[in-house]
Amino acid sequence: MKTTRIVLASRPTGTPADENFRTETVELESPPPGSALLQTLYLSLDPYMRGRMSDAPSYAPPVEVGATMVGATVSRVLESTDPALSSGDIVLGYGGWQTHSVERVRHLRKLDPAAAPLTTALGVLGMPGFTAYSGLLTIGQPKAGETVVVAAATGPVGATVGQIAKINGARAVGIAGGPRKVELLREHFGFDAAIDHRAPDFAEQLAAATPDGIDVYFENVGGAVLDAVLPRLNKFARIPVCGLVSQYNDSELPPGPDRMGLLMGLILRKSLTLRGFIQTEFLDQFDRFQADMAGWIDAGRVAYLEDVVDGLDHTVEAFRGLLTGKNLGKLVIKVAD
Ligand code: NAP
Repeated sequence: MKTTRIVLASRPTGTPADENFRTETVELESPPPGSALLQTLYLSLDPYMRGRMSDAPSYAPPVEVGATMVGATVSRVLESTDPALSSGDIVLGYGGWQTHSVERVRHLRKLDPAAAPLTTALGVLGMPGFTAYSGLLTIGQPKAGETVVVAAATGPVGATVGQIAKINGARAVGIAGGPRKVELLREHFGFDAAIDHRAPDFAEQLAAATPDGIDVYFENVGGAVLDAVLPRLNKFARIPVCGLVSQYNDSELPPGPDRMGLLMGLILRKSLTLRGFIQTEFLDQFDRFQADMAGWIDAGRVAYLEDVVDGLDHTVEAFRGLLTGKNLGKLVIKVAD
């Protein structure tokens, strides 16, 4: 069995370029005991992958130059040496940017194709949905009547944050790039207010949309959005720091004066709680998340949006678009039928 895979050819500086990747077809080993040979059906593309392309200090080791790019996958079992899986089963794994993989069965989760569309295991019912759930409820702790603000709000993390905030009785304000996304925030996801971060009067619009200030800011992006949010924060506001996607392609600090003193002063005066997190810290909540989220989707209380791009050969281009907002919802590559 052969696999066609995309390997990291060199480490990108700034926006990843085509030359930073190489596509190659190689022979796969036969699955050793306790393993399965898998055919990738769907590959998840996520912002964290930009960090794996770099060897800067991170919470996870980088992908080695010459190695297959990592990523969560939904795959079909072609052959298994472990009785827990049979050929034809569908599993969630971590096969990476390739058409086939051999994985340890204990690292795979069997999916029920009748329970939910397979792609949702990579989005609203998977890691991004869980990130929103665990980060918002554990750190953000939204209460009835409070105002919750989130950016990248049509993406799988942000959209889920806004809707869980509403389920908890809070007012949800979503920030996204462009009029089409802003409309989706209101019409499809039911945000109470929606703002375009590219609008020239974005800070004024945010102030108008948060007349009672901001109690929870779920930080997905950093940069200019954070700048506009800071003066709106209420005393005792909570800020789960989930991601800083506006900075992922940066290779140096932004120009301008050092604003650390301003931020620390604000944290002190307003008794703010800022806490970074990686969703794996909260994995003991995963079963509860799955039950809650499946119930909310069935009851029509959580909607989701997926952007499925056909063909592994479009992966690099689609990934670049993810970091600049070209995706409309959870970005997934369809690798095979
Ligand atoms: P996503 O929303 O599907 O994609 C990223 C979005 O970021 C883009 O669509 C774009 O949306 C927005 N964006 C890009 N540059 C921006 C800028 N300069 N200013 C404002 N927005 C910008 O991604 P996701 O998978 O839901 O992830 C959202 C965040 O959660 C990311 O920061 C990611 O790294 C983080 N995350 C963290 C964890 C964790 O465990 N801590 C786990 C999963 C994800 P617009 O077009 O709307 O601007």
